Amino acid sequence: MESLLDILGNGAESPASAGGATVPVLMPVALGQTYDYLVPEGPGIGPGHFVLVPFGPQSRIGIVWDGPQGEQKPLDRKKLKALTSVIDAPPLPLISLRFAEWVARYTLAPLGMVARMLMSADSAFDAAKPRFGVRLVDGAPPPGKISPARARALHFAADGLIRSKSELAQLAGCSTGVIDGLVLAGSLVDVAIPERGFPRPDPSHTATGFTDDQAQAVMGLVSAVDADNFSVTLLDGVTGSGKTEVYFEAVGRALAAGRQALIMLPEIALTSQFLDRFERRFGVKPVEWHSALSPTERGRIWKGVARGDVRCVVGARSALFLPYPELGLIVVDEEHDQGYKQDDRVHYQGRDMCVVRGNLGKFPVVLASATPSIESHVNAQQGRYRHIVLPGRYTGVDMPDVSAIDLRRESPEPGKWLAPRLVAAMTETLQNGQQSLLFLNRRGYAPLTLCRSCGHRIECPQCTAWLVEHRFKKRLDCHHCGFSLSLPEKCPKCAAPGGLVACGPGVERVAEEVAERFPSARIALLSSDLIPSLIDMRAMIHRIEAHEIDIIIGTQIVAKGHHFPDLALVGVVDGDLGLAHGADPRAGERTFQLLHQVTGRAGRALAVGRGLVQTHMPEHPVMAAIVAGDREAFLNYEIKTRQTGVLPPYGRLAAVIISARDKALAERTARDIARLAPPSEKIKVLGPAEAPIAVVRGRYRWRLLVKAPRDADMQGYLRAWETDIPKLKSDVRVTLDIDPYNFF
Ligand code: ADP
Ligand code: ZN
Repeated sequence: MESLLDILGNGAESPASAGGATVPVLMPVALGQTYDYLVPEGPGIGPGHFVLVPFGPQSRIGIVWDGPQGEQKPLDRKKLKALTSVIDAPPLPLISLRFAEWVARYTLAPLGMVARMLMSADSAFDAAKPRFGVRLVDGAPPPGKISPARARALHFAADGLIRSKSELAQLAGCSTGVIDGLVLAGSLVDVAIPERGFPRPDPSHTATGFTDDQAQAVMGLVSAVDADNFSVTLLDGVTGSGKTEVYFEAVGRALAAGRQALIMLPEIALTSQFLDRFERRFGVKPVEWHSALSPTERGRIWKGVARGDVRCVVGARSALFLPYPELGLIVVDEEHDQGYKQDDRVHYQGRDMCVVRGNLGKFPVVLASATPSIESHVNAQQGRYRHIVLPGRYTGVDMPDVSAIDLRRESPEPGKWLAPRLVAAMTETLQNGQQSLLFLNRRGYAPLTLCRSCGHRIECPQCTAWLVEHRFKKRLDCHHCGFSLSLPEKCPKCAAPGGLVACGPGVERVAEEVAERFPSARIALLSSDLIPSLIDMRAMIHRIEAHEIDIIIGTQIVAKGHHFPDLALVGVVDGDLGLAHGADPRAGERTFQLLHQVTGRAGRALAVGRGLVQTHMPEHPVMAAIVAGDREAFLNYEIKTRQTGVLPPYGRLAAVIISARDKALAERTARDIARLAPPSEKIKVLGPAEAPIAVVRGRYRWRLLVKAPRDADMQGYLRAWETDIPKLKSDVRVTLDIDPYNFF
């Protein structure tokens, strides 16, 4: 940050132009303030415009703001520089500026970093390069010389459409030289190819017939849209109750009222199934926004949203920061999903920021889930959110019958991971021609590799973590920093050959056991490292839907949003995995949600499905609630735990993470920072403590946890603290995480 400021001070000075108008410009960098630039004479430049400005030694794109932000030094007119040009891109709507300011204030991230998220499509700011094509000239006389190639080209051009020269040449089976000749002869003319538009979803494309419960829920949501004001509704219903069908009606209503709509989904749930359903309801595919889009496509969509050509976006977290001028509804599906929390650069909870965006834009927000977050649930209980409940599945089929397998009494054979009862259920399911799913939230083959001779455990050299064996890739990988080693043949420490053993199961090892036990079954292994892209994932989901697969083994990517009609059995290989994280106040909630969702995949269309959860602690309240399918019991337990601990939503948390390459420096800085914490009656600072994963990427990490009651001014406290911290050594990094979801 310091170096950037230095650069700015030393930039080349432009000649003073006394009295010229200036505008404040925000740069998409880790700075919180705007800088004034002189505006050249000419057409008006207003707030939200993108401008190219000299910034230190560089030329960069910034955003014209509608007032100065952050600390402003007294203006020295002689040092003012002029902005270079206005970028040919639609300006940001003012509401995007207000939203960015809000997010920056709340997360304590520099406003420039939030602004950067508003510009998440570089190609939107590139000079538009119109593509050229050719079209038949109306009523042009035929060219003097008609070769067969020319005749074919004219034949295809006769429809009057604009095509690129190469496209037309290909159709006609001639060279582009022939097309050039026809242009010279005046039969064809060069014209710019208009940018591809966005088909509009049609709210009345189909009419869904609803059950009574659903119709009531639809009415609730539609009236929220009609109220044309801010509200939050929790749409709470078991998997398969029709939440999607129901909120589609609210989307249709907002679209019909001339507003834009946004449907947020966890990235992994952006399946083609979902897109197809949208198309069935609205006649066209929605515009998707996720990390797999090409840069050109991102730019096209960004501009389409800003111009209002895109009416409905279905997207992952970052879709919230697109420049909607007319947004009138946000639906956050799977609102409990942890994927909405961003833990990179700007630490924000996407679901919460959707509520903020609705509040600023004065429109309704719908949070949908079968297992709402405790936060949303408490808000609904306390009347801050409306609560709409869909009590049963649309098909009327009951929720799956879940039972626990107590591994202390029914253990798998040595070297195996599936208990006899689970194996028997899988055999039966296979014989009935139905599908089974095994869930284990652990990628790779084995989480630990151990030397039988010397006891050495193979660790990551840069992190406090064991390397995870990935047998298909024949590598040992670190899941924290990406360090990777090809699978050694002998112990790296004692060099004893053949002494290395894999300990514990990952999905690959479970798949190996399944292949051994069911040699004739068709098996699919779904794990993010084996299915590299959303596209491949979609193809695999299709195969499962089509029942080309008998047994599915997967990590949490199988838990979300998929409907497999022939799935009759879900086995959870290690139900305790999520409960082990001591420091994380949401460990119980997450385990409940994940296991409830994954067992809920069973028996969706046919008949009551079965869930079997392998566990060492069936008496744990969370496990007992999952097995009993008793959400109320879980909620009561969890809400009480949060209340007693003054944990979210009854209290507020912030994490301060201090890291450095130098071990002693990290610890010393953490202790110094802790000592500088302003005294407070209400707000407590816990720590510093070494982070559970004490070293990541070679950086030593210490954590402080700030705990405050709900009504305390957490941001004010942290800002006051920040100003007291002297300049830190360049090796030290301090990260602030408001409402942390990650406790490693
Ligand atoms: P949820 O989002 O609550 O999991 P969905 O909206 O996905 O539930 O509905 C589950 C299944 O039931 C889907 O296949 C959906 O098409 C079907 N369904 C739900 N409600 C209706 C309805 N009113 N008419 C026709 N099909 C419905
Ligand atoms: Zn590592």
